[in-house]
Order: sequence, then structure tokens, then C-alpha cells
Amino acid sequence: MNGGGPVKISALRARVDDEELRIRGILDEPWKPTDFRGHPHPGQKYKHGWIPIGGSAGDMRQALSDAKDIDELNAALAGEAKRITGRDIHADLSGLDVDVAREYGEGIARGLERFPDATLTGVYTYGPGSRQSKAGSEMQRLHPDASAVTQAYGVMEGGRFIVSSNIYFNAGPAADSAAFRAGREQAHADGFLVTGTPMGTALHEFGHVVTNQTGSKRTVYDSAVTDAEHAGIAPSAYISRHVSKYASSDMGEFAAEAFTDVMSNGSAASATSESAFQILEAAYKAGKRA
Ligand SMILES: [Zn+2]
Repeated sequence: MNGGGPVKISALRARVDDEELRIRGILDEPWKPTDFRGHPHPGQKYKHGWIPIGGSAGDMRQALSDAKDIDELNAALAGEAKRITGRDIHADLSGLDVDVAREYGEGIARGLERFPDATLTGVYTYGPGSRQSKAGSEMQRLHPDASAVTQAYGVMEGGRFIVSSNIYFNAGPAADSAAFRAGREQAHADGFLVTGTPMGTALHEFGHVVTNQTGSKRTVYDSAVTDAEHAGIAPSAYISRHVSKYASSDMGEFAAEAFTDVMSNGSAASATSESAFQILEAAYKAGKRA
């Protein structure tokens, strides 16, 4: 309810959009710097390296496809993360449908292959069937209908302020995996999301991790605004058309969707997504040298 005064149409519209995304289960909220003491924070020593993405978008790596249940999958994902980055990254996909979880794992692994120095410290779940934790309860309270949430937190390390992130997948919406997949595909068909797959969801969240760590969402977004101005189109309409409707909802979602477009769709990604991705990747590489 508003305070009795007239409601501005733009405010009303924003609320309707927000509600629509919530109903579709695709609303998430990145970028909430929080004190995450009590969360595992693995050591920072790891090898640097560039490992290209292998296989086509439909491929699932053997280590993940061999896993017969969530426990095996957690071990396989942690193993892949360690193999790729040299770091310990917490992996807990409990409560999820095992095939949805497998795709989430593949998305995370692909993100790490391209961005091995991404400051991802853990993958968790919340909601029904997840392991109970204080952070999970908080996620359930704040984001009951999101499919996933990426949470950033900052720590001082060797005199530098490092922004790291944890990814939380919501076991609730994915409980009925057929309905969940159908919802994703519909959202993609409607132009709401750049992909219609759980792997795309994981890559979207990974995009938030890289955006958080580089603090580059405004720079990335500005590139699209400039393109829109050259085209003589309002930025939100331009981004909806060339990336996705969800990408037009805010700067962080733009960066995450552009990231997903390039990582999932490869050469079929839009030029807008491609240039945004390049800015993000350049910021990531510059951060590594610093
Ligand atoms: Zn997002």
C-alpha cells in the first residue's frame, strides 16, 4: 500500500515487473555485501592459468555425469573446482533434483574454467531438503521465490579489500524439476532470459560473482547505454531486445545476463552481450595483475 497519495505509473510498473519475475521464480538479488563470518573461506593460494572451455553447450563433463546421487555430485564438483583452480571451493547441492544439480555444477565448472581466479568461495542450497544453516534460513526468509542468489562479502587480505561471493541455489522452485525446466524454457522463449536451462542459471550467478569481484557493473552497463544512444533507442528497450528483459531490470542483471549469453550461446550471443563480456573480462584480468 502507498501512503494514500497517488501512485506514480513508473513505480507501479516497476512493482508489476518485479511481481511477474517473482511469480516466474527468476527474480534474484545479487550484490548485497554482508558480513559472512562463520562461512568457510578457503585459503587464497592458488595457481593462475587459463583453461579454455571444452565441448559444446550440450556436453556434461564425465566427472559430473558419473555421479549417482547428490553426495557423489558434491564430491565431484568440489573435485572439479580444485582441479581447475587449485583452491577448495565448498560444494553442497543438497535438496536439489540430481539432474538439475548436475547442470548447475556444469555451469559452475565452466565459469571456473574461463575465470579460474573468480572469487567464488562456495556453492550452497537453501529451502526444502537443504542442509540447515543460518545463512540458508536467511536466504529462505529474504528470497523464498528466487531460483538462486549470489551473495557478496568483502574481506581484507594483505592490505587489499577482496570481494568474494557464495552462490545459493533454491531447492524449492527446482523440487518439481519438470515444471522448473518448463518455466525456464518459457522464460527464455518469452525473451526474459538469455537461456532456458539450469546450466544457464548457474552461469548467470557466476556472472554476478565476476561482476561483484571486479566492481564493474556500472562500466559494463554503460557500454550498453552508449550503444542504445547510438541506436536512438531507450536503454531498457535496447537491452530487452538485444540481451533479455531480465537484463533490463538493473545493472547487475545486465552484466549477469550478458555473461550468460556469451558463456552459453557462444557465437550466437548478441554483439551487445559480447562487448559487455569483453569489458567484464578485461576488468577481471586487470584485477588479477593488481
Ligand atoms: Zn541475477
